[in-house]
Amino acid sequence: MYANSPPAHFNERRYFAWNDWVKRTHGGRIQKVSLDAGFTCPNRDGKLGRGGCSFCNNAAFTPSYLAGTRELHAQLATGIAFMQHRYTGTTRYLAYFQAYSNTYADLAELKALYAQALSHPGISGLAIGTRPDCLPDAVLDHLAELARDHMIELEIGIESCDDNVLAECRRGHDFACSVDAIERAASRGLQITAHMLFGLPGETRASVQTGARKLGALPLAAIKFHQLQIVRGTRLAMEWKRQPGSIALLSLDEYLDWIVDTLEYLPDSVRVQRLGSDVPPTQRVLPERGDRQLDLPAQLSARLSARGTWQGRLHGASS
Ligand code: SF4
Repeated sequence: MYANSPPAHFNERRYFAWNDWVKRTHGGRIQKVSLDAGFTCPNRDGKLGRGGCSFCNNAAFTPSYLAGTRELHAQLATGIAFMQHRYTGTTRYLAYFQAYSNTYADLAELKALYAQALSHPGISGLAIGTRPDCLPDAVLDHLAELARDHMIELEIGIESCDDNVLAECRRGHDFACSVDAIERAASRGLQITAHMLFGLPGETRASVQTGARKLGALPLAAIKFHQLQIVRGTRLAMEWKRQPGSIALLSLDEYLDWIVDTLEYLPDSVRVQRLGSDVPPTQRVLPERGDRQLDLPAQLSARLSARGTWQGRLHGASS
C-alpha cells in the first residue's frame, strides 16, 4: 500500500528538502559552522588501521578559515562572520564538529569540547560527525542530555550498506555496526543524519537498491548524499596514479538514478540535507568533475519527475 502522489510538505520538489524543513520549523536558515577540534579517528591512529578509508583526506573539505587555530571560539567567530556575509537570513548557527571522528575521545574531553562550543553566544546547537563504531552508550547518553536544551544533530558515516564495499574501502566497520549505532541513538531520541557516499569501488546500482530497503527501515531524521571524487592524498588517488582510469566514476545521470532509487524507499519524513560533495577542484585528481552543487536540487526533482516517482513511494515495500 503506497502513497499515490508526493506529499504536500515536499513543496513540489518530489523529495523532502532539509532547507524547506528548516524554514517551516525554525524560520529563516540554519548554517553549520565547521570546526576542527583536533580529533583523529581509529582508522588513522592505528587502533583499526593507518592511512584511513581509501577515499578520505579531511583537508579536502576543511574550510580554510580553520587553518591556524585550534581554539573553538576563534574558529566559530571566524566561521560565523564568513557565513553572515555569505548567507543572509540565517537565524541559527550550529557548531559543526566535522573533521575526523568527533566522538572519538574520553567522555570528559568530549563534554568539555561540546560545552565550549555551546557556550559561544552565536551558537544554538551542535552537529557532530562521526563513525558508528565511536558511539558508546555513555556518549549517546550525554548527547541525549544536551538535546533536551539544544538542537543536536548526530551525523553517522554509513557510506555504504554493502559489507564488501565497506571492506574494499578499508572502512573498518560493517553495516551492522551502523544499524546498531543508529538504533541505540534513536532510542535516546537523538536526530540522526545518515552520511552516504555513492560510487565507491564495488558498489553497483543493484547493491544501492538493496541498501535502500535497509536504510528505509532505519530511524533516520535526515540523509546526506555524496558522489565519490578522487581526492589528492588518498589511497584512491594513489591507485589512480598507478593506473589512470582504473576507478569508474559515476556519471551525473547514474548518480541521480542512485539517489532516486534510494529516496523511493525512505520515509517521506527523512530530510534530504545534501546532494553532493564539493571538494575544491585543486584537491581533486580530476578537477573538471564535481562542480554541480547548485544545480543538483533542480536536477534531482527533474529526474524524480521523469521517472514518475518521489521520495517514499516504495517505502514499506518488502525486500
Ligand atoms: S572517512 Fe572518517 S573514518 Fe575514514 S579515515 Fe576519514 S576520518 Fe577516519
